[in-house]
Amino acid sequence: MAEKIVRNTDKKDTAPKKAVEPEKQPAAKKKPQTVITPNKPTGGSTIGLRIGAVVLWLLAIVCEVFAIMALLEYFYPPINMTLFLIIAIVLDMVFAILAAQLWKKANHIKPMSEKRGKFLFYLWNELGVIMACICFIPLIVLLLKNDKLDKKTKLIATIVAVVALLITGVASADFNPISAEQKEEAEHQITGNVYWTQFGHKYHLKWNGDPDAEQVEVDCPHIRNSNSVYKGTVTEAIESGRTAICSYCAAHAADWGIDLDLAALNVEDRDASETPDVPVINTTAAPAN
Ligand SMILES: [Zn+2]
Repeated sequence: MAEKIVRNTDKKDTAPKKAVEPEKQPAAKKKPQTVITPNKPTGGSTIGLRIGAVVLWLLAIVCEVFAIMALLEYFYPPINMTLFLIIAIVLDMVFAILAAQLWKKANHIKPMSEKRGKFLFYLWNELGVIMACICFIPLIVLLLKNDKLDKKTKLIATIVAVVALLITGVASADFNPISAEQKEEAEHQITGNVYWTQFGHKYHLKWNGDPDAEQVEVDCPHIRNSNSVYKGTVTEAIESGRTAICSYCAAHAADWGIDLDLAALNVEDRDASETPDVPVINTTAAPAN
């Protein structure tokens, strides 16, 4: 819904005539973004998700085994070999990606404790990436070694398999894995609402589009221009995959009167490109409607 993108277009329009129309523009800025309340937390059980993930990974491996058996001539596919390999690889990819999403969801609901050690923590949280390797690398090696396939089939199948491996690896990685301790700390320290966007990977503390919020001077520029904003508890944010607090919000929490012990929280990696280029809008200038 293009009409909803009020903040982006306003900014371009208002910048030059800020002083001319002090009444109209702030009112337009106040036009609410769509607020979405997410599903409630699932209650902590992750057994179903983990079993689902394992079953889907097994299905992915079955697809890979079928492709390998056809390559090794254990059977002759009823369809064209190239087509058969592509179908097997794509199904392999779909099952592996779905499995990893369930696995990540389970890790966000019930994260692993840091006390188990960094290696196990990494292994557990990035199991999706490891499984992606298992689901594709043996097949890729056999494809490369194979000298019975015609060159075209070999080339196409190898490219499709490598691309599938890359897509599955990226889709399966958890870029901001959270530990049980960090989740507990976040739930303890952040008792108010947090905000996130549809495609964002982190949660934010302050958003002045919130009709319930008190008048604020600043909020997080990374969420200000979003069309739709999700609002919920920090538990809901983490369980929907936004495991880390935004670095801008972490740096400005104290200004907003939110006292955080950042060392104990999962904070998004600080990145130079994250520096906000969006000017801060002073909403206190807006007349109360
Ligand atoms: Zn933020």
